[in-house]
Amino acid sequence: KLHNTILELKGNIRVFCRVRPLLPGENNGDEGKTISYPASLELLGHGIDLMQNAQKHSFTFDKVFLPNTTQEDVFIEISQLVQSALDGYKVCIFAYGQTGSGKTYTMMGKPGNVEEKGLIPRCLEQIFETRQSLRSQGWKYELQVSMLEIYNETIRDLLSTNKEAVRTENGVSPQKHAIKHDAHGNTHVAELTILDVKSSREVSFLLDHAARNRSVGKTQMNEQSSRSHFVFTLRISGVNESTEQQVQGVLNLIDLAGSERLSKSGSTGDRLKETQAINKSLSSLGDVIFALAKKDDHVPFRNSKLTYLLQPCLGGDSKTLMFVNIAPESSSTGESLCSLRFAARVN
Ligand code: ADP
Ligand code: MG
Repeated sequence: KLHNTILELKGNIRVFCRVRPLLPGENNGDEGKTISYPASLELLGHGIDLMQNAQKHSFTFDKVFLPNTTQEDVFIEISQLVQSALDGYKVCIFAYGQTGSGKTYTMMGKPGNVEEKGLIPRCLEQIFETRQSLRSQGWKYELQVSMLEIYNETIRDLLSTNKEAVRTENGVSPQKHAIKHDAHGNTHVAELTILDVKSSREVSFLLDHAARNRSVGKTQMNEQSSRSHFVFTLRISGVNESTEQQVQGVLNLIDLAGSERLSKSGSTGDRLKETQAINKSLSSLGDVIFALAKKDDHVPFRNSKLTYLLQPCLGGDSKTLMFVNIAPESSSTGESLCSLRFAARVN
């Protein structure tokens, strides 16, 4: 490990809350404002208040991003973590929240809009730029990506060119992509496509390919990708040709499945099973991060595919950041309160 980053002084788990703006057509009208920010100077940028049935719920996080925060502002706050991955740390950045709260916007951004590109493209640009500038100091970096989704506790390889492997309904055996961790803290997923990448353009091409391969759900609550976890992994190996120093870092960027509770999705049958799998893996993730934050001896990594997959990147001296995304309209107050409570528990 090359540098100690600032984060280390404060432990390795961070929680940032991001409240998206009201979207065109959304209007809180007479129901009024449900979200506000504490006026006290010391809580500015850290506190958030939620009103529900005339009762105020207050939360504090490592950071609270107001609705007008730009994608660039958010990226500035995480670029240190990206540097950590280049320095040889294992890093996980999660986006948690109900469907429509801004997880994909935070991670990927708005398609085709350069200003509003999200964390994943910005991280890649920083990494490729840094790689270039460290060359003069003798550093050579090799980068590899994989992209997978976890749907109903089953892993799907999103970079596979074999359509069979990414079919939506029950075609994939849960054992196909078995997870193994070796003694060096490296994770191996059987039959997972891992590709060498040389430019951020190349990765954006792969991201498009992955997006087309994602599962399609048919819940009332919109959009295809909200029912599965999307895990983007960048493996970074660096070697210094003059000093022979070596680093192995990992950057995981995870767009989690929507955290909304059952009734809102009107689930039955397959959708019910799907919702239960999502609930289970999200609560397992919470349990794991909570146990790590408390420095418990037993951390229940094995309770879900997601936490087992990420085990080497969550414990030890790895670094974790959780975004809790919040939708501001009053009809989301119940879900927002659940998300804030989830995040407060792991904070
Ligand atoms: P999720 O992935 O959590 O379901 P999305 O990221 O798809 O939610 O966001 C829902 C909608 O809100 C999208 O149309 C997205 O472009 C918009 N949106 C989310 N966050 C912001 C933001 N911070 N600023 C502007 N628009 C946003
Ligand atoms: Mg999404």
